[in-house]
Parts: sequence; C-alpha cells; structure tokens
Amino acid sequence: MNLMYQSTRSNSEPITASKAILKGLADDGGLYVPKSIPKLELSMKELSDLNYQQTAYEVMKLFLTDFTEEELKSCIEKAYDSKFDTEEIAPLVKADGAYYLELFHGATIAFKDMALSILPHLLTTAAKKNQVQDEIVILTATSGDTGKAALAGFADVEGTKIIVFYPKDGVSVVQEKQMVTQKGDNTYVIGIRGNFDDAQNGVKAMFNNKELGAKLKEKGYQFSSANSINIGRLVPQIVYYVYSYANLYKNEEIAEGEKINVVVPTGNFGNILAAYYAKCMGVPIGKLLCASNDNKVLFDFFQTGIYNKNREFILTSSPSMDILISSNLERLIFQIAGEDADKTLELMKALSTKGEYEITEEMKFRMQEFTAGYAAEAETAETIKKLYEKTGYVIDTHTAVAASVYNKYRTQTGDTSKTIIASTASPYKFARSVMNAVDMKYDGLGEFELVDELSKLSGTDIPQAIEEIKTAAVLHTRVCDKDKMQETVENILM
Ligand SMILES: *Cc1c(COP(=O)(O)O)cnc(C)c1O
Repeated sequence: MNLMYQSTRSNSEPITASKAILKGLADDGGLYVPKSIPKLELSMKELSDLNYQQTAYEVMKLFLTDFTEEELKSCIEKAYDSKFDTEEIAPLVKADGAYYLELFHGATIAFKDMALSILPHLLTTAAKKNQVQDEIVILTATSGDTGKAALAGFADVEGTKIIVFYPKDGVSVVQEKQMVTQKGDNTYVIGIRGNFDDAQNGVKAMFNNKELGAKLKEKGYQFSSANSINIGRLVPQIVYYVYSYANLYKNEEIAEGEKINVVVPTGNFGNILAAYYAKCMGVPIGKLLCASNDNKVLFDFFQTGIYNKNREFILTSSPSMDILISSNLERLIFQIAGEDADKTLELMKALSTKGEYEITEEMKFRMQEFTAGYAAEAETAETIKKLYEKTGYVIDTHTAVAASVYNKYRTQTGDTSKTIIASTASPYKFARSVMNAVDMKYDGLGEFELVDELSKLSGTDIPQAIEEIKTAAVLHTRVCDKDKMQETVENILM
C-alpha cells in the first residue's frame, strides 16, 4: 500500500509521493503532508551500521513508497557523491559540550544542499513515472542559500529549466556572487527590488495563477517548486537526524534510547519540521528548540500561540532566516489541529487577509515538545567569538543564532540533555560577519582577503565553492520590481 499525501487545506484527493513532488504546492494553496508518519523499521543498532546513503534509503523508502528500490537508490547515489567534501556527508563535531551537525559539506556550502542535491533526481524520476511530457520549470524564491543550491542541483538537468528570484539587497556578497555566476543554459537568476517575503509571495501567486498555468501548458511547460514547501525537500532532510542520532549511539556518546535535544536555526521551518518528523518516526528526541534571529515571529508564536507577521522586517547577519512568513509551519499547524484541513485553511486565510492568526489551547498543548528562543545580533556575534576563543571552532552566523539560543536555554532550564545543533552554513559563506564577530580589526579587508584570514584562524581549508567564485564571470544581471515577476517569467519562457 502506498503512503498517500494530502493537502493541509482540504481532505480531497490524496495523491502519491511522486505526484506530490511534481506538484510542489496543492491546487488549493495547501502543502502536501503524508497521511501518516511512518515508523523506522530498523533498530538503532542496525541503523548505526549504515553509511549516509544507506540511511537515506531506509528513511526515504518509507515516505516515497511509489518509487522502486532501484529508482530511489539511483537518486541517492547521484545526489550524495563526491559533490560532498566528506564521505560522512553530514559529520558531527563536538565543541563546548554540544554536537554540531555540519550540514554544509555540499556544493554550495549550506544545508540546502542536503535536499537540493537529490530533489532534481526525485523530480525527473517522478516525471518519468507519471508520463509527464512537459518541460518542468522550477520557480524558486530564495533568501540566499536555496537559490544557489537549487541552481547547482538543476543546472543542465535535461527536461528542466530553473528560474530563481532573490531580494537584490537582501543577500550576502558571497551568496549573490554564487548565484549570478551560475552556469547552465537552463538557469535564470533575477534580483527583485523587495525582500524575501515579496519574492516568495510573487512565486506563490504564479503557482496559484490558473490562467498562467494554462498558458504555460500550451507552450509545453509545467511549474514545479524547489522551495522547502516541496515534500521532496522535506523528506531528505529527515535523514540526517536519524543518521546523526545513530552516529552518537555508535560512538557511545549516548546510551540506547537516550533522549537528546535538537536546536535548529529556523527560517521557513523546513529543517526543524524534518527533525520533528524524525522524532515522530521514533528517533528519541526530547525538545526541539526553534531558534530565531531578530525576526522572531516564530519565537512569539511559540510563546503566545499568536502568529503575527505585521511587524518590521529586519535585515540581520543571518539573512537566510530573515523571514516573516514561515511556510512550513503550516504543516505543523495541520498536525496539531488534529489533521484538520478546515481549521488549517481558516488560519491560513486569516494570515493572508489579516496577517495574523491565533491557535487554540488544545493546539498549543500539542506542540509542547517545541521550545523557542531568539538571539539578537550582538548575542550572535558574541557566541561566535566566545566559542572560537574557547575551542578554536568557528561557526557561521545562522549556527551561532542556534548556539546562543541553546546556551540560554541550558542556563535557564538546567536541561543538560545531550544536544545536536544544526550547523546550517559554512562560516566561509558569511565570512565578513563571522570575522567581524571575532575581531573588528578585519573589517577593512576585502571579501577574499577575509576568506584567507578565516582559513588561518580556523585552521580549515577554503572550500571549493569559494575558490570557484573568486574568478567566475557574472552571467546573470536581470533585476525587476517585485510586481513584475510574472512578466519576467513570461518573457523568459514565451
Ligand atoms: C535556509 C537556511 C536556514 C533556515 O532553514 P529553514 O528550513 O528555512 O527553517 C538556516 N540557515 C541557513 C544557512 C539556511 O540556508
């Protein structure tokens, strides 16, 4: 029996995993969720003997049940290969009492690679399975890291085009350079005059525009999404939580069944939702700590039960978390509403009309395993500096938000459970903020001098992804107003 997927906003027409991956977003604007969350079939002892690829298969086969073993294994082999600079794929580094789960060893040195190196293969396999003849157009909004990871994943993948929108003044120098130097005849990169939420809203509007869909269909195109709303993004992210727990167990850092906490620097709520799904599958996880930067809409939500996006949008040194509408939260809302699609629809309508909604007491009760915290800019910088001075380990700004929240949580609660901190980007990707946090004396240096200094300071090699863009030519120069996104897409495709 196949595990089916339904929209968070209606109970009609559950579809297979491959169809859900192809569609991205449901027609009613909802997100696809599995009808039930499967339990792990292997014991922790058995899982601890598996490498990353084998673990990926054991986890993903339970969710993507309409993929054959051969199809799924082929996707996994193509994704988690020498594009990663370590065979472990997602290594754990112990520093100052916590375990940093390094999710940045892929092609673009941020955690989006974990899912986006496999999504193109899942998507093209899903297209074949469902006899899709149309060319697939990936439409993506990015706060910086998704864009490049998606571009790298889809570049020159046959039968696909990829169009990426990013906030022109809302990403780091390195992030922008990574995107605008992207090679591949099927890649398009566009800066918009607006912030990430504008980009994401524009993309969502195009997905929901039936007229545009019909026009594209005539030309032989079909939209799909590489954003973290796609279930094909979420499922691969569950893998590393299973894998890292199994590794802690194998290395005798934890006893059998010992509960650990997981801290995740959060933006669109995809990564932490994956940790939650891992917990639902049976990984012994106690608390899930949702860490925000100054855009602390999620912190306020977990504190009060009120989600309110009507607030100032703040640009921070952790730009990939500068988000006010956290899309994947809808999947948690659906779950804690008792899988009630009508209730979810009502709340999401309130969000789009009033910019605000409030959940019930019962729903609040059902999300007790989540705890939230946030770190202000000064705390984030302080965390980078202190950890470096104490241990020599250098973390990026996003990871530092999580580390700061973790430190505060541990002090306030006395909870000393072993803890995994999701380390979502290489410090090289945010070299200026990282080096300034260590010492303001670096502020006068150019972007690549900083990278050299960071290498000396941390005793780590400069990643290939950074070496590459030092000399790469700019290939994309399009910029458009936030209300001209659809026009731009039509110009590209028609
Ligand atoms: C995308 C991103 C995040 C936020 O992850 P979500 O799944 O959107 O919550 C955190 N850190 C970095 C470096 C990212 O690229």
